[in-house]
Amino acid sequence: MRIGEIARGVTRGDRRSLARAITLVENDPEAADSLLSCLPGRKNGAFVLGITGPPGTGKSTLVDRLIQSYRAKGLKVGVVAIDPTSPITGGALLGDRIRMARHTTDEGVFIRSMASRGWSGGLTRSTAQVIQLMDHAGVDVILVETAGIGQSDVEVVGVAHAVVVVLMPGLGDIIQISKAGLMEIADVYAVNKSDLEGADSMVVNILSLVRNAKKIHSPAVVKLSALKGDGVDRLVESVEQLRAGLRDRGDEMRRKSIRSVVVELARGRVLDEFSRAAASVTEELVREVLSGRMSVGEAAEALAAKQRRPAHHGVSGHRRSGGT
Ligand code: GDP
Repeated sequence: MRIGEIARGVTRGDRRSLARAITLVENDPEAADSLLSCLPGRKNGAFVLGITGPPGTGKSTLVDRLIQSYRAKGLKVGVVAIDPTSPITGGALLGDRIRMARHTTDEGVFIRSMASRGWSGGLTRSTAQVIQLMDHAGVDVILVETAGIGQSDVEVVGVAHAVVVVLMPGLGDIIQISKAGLMEIADVYAVNKSDLEGADSMVVNILSLVRNAKKIHSPAVVKLSALKGDGVDRLVESVEQLRAGLRDRGDEMRRKSIRSVVVELARGRVLDEFSRAAASVTEELVREVLSGRMSVGEAAEALAAKQRRPAHHGVSGHRRSGGT
């Protein structure tokens, strides 16, 4: 099939053409570029929703529910599932495929998984292209499900208008979750597995985290059970509120999402650099504290000051000028 033909097929909403076009995006970047240039500018304005969260929290089960809800509203749904290549999660992935398989005969649902391979920026690019293709094919809502296994999730959801972070009771330290960067990117927290013990205290934890965060608008927190279907309507309602703003605020939503990603990635890098740099001077400061020449607070301040002005090894007179 020629590129022009594939492009026309995509615009008609033909599923086979869309599948071929996506394969081009994955395997042949040059052909993909000429295909995309055959298509008119962003056309239908599909709403792109990122779904992320640690493995096993029920993201795929939830995506399945969301497909049902949107189909019931008569909307066309696309799913881009970012496959982890890690063997650890291979089993879960098979589960995903089986669960989603029942939608494959539905003409209004298009599901595609993409290998995350090296989690490079290239994935973000090809995900963005797949979104563009689905948009041209007339898909109304695109769910981008990421594996929840690292910083790169944060990167991939940079292509989304809004993000649902899926959590569950018994996940452990909420601080860890916030360190993973999920705090910055969530527009809605879905506390899944409400049928299990501990869901309420999870909600309380997240609410306190949300209250303390300096965000422009607070993310919603929704308790649900994707397995049983309880509370899924409330989640869809929260997402619908976000989708309602798409026409007026689509660009702003993308900008906010991208901003979060840039901040998160930079934070990770700065922290890594700080840890490396700190290692070389910490011992000396520890000795100062042990010998009673410095308090722990003074040692921390001295370490922070070295990081702020590493070239001058300055210790004082340099106030912090801004936070993250
Ligand atoms: P993912 O790794 O985040 O995609 O999680 P899955 O959707 O594969 O779900 C992981 C496991 O949690 C599966 O065994 C699901 O059946 C189960 N699960 C999903 N939602 C619920 C729920 O609401 N309650 C309970 N008890 N289990 C659930």
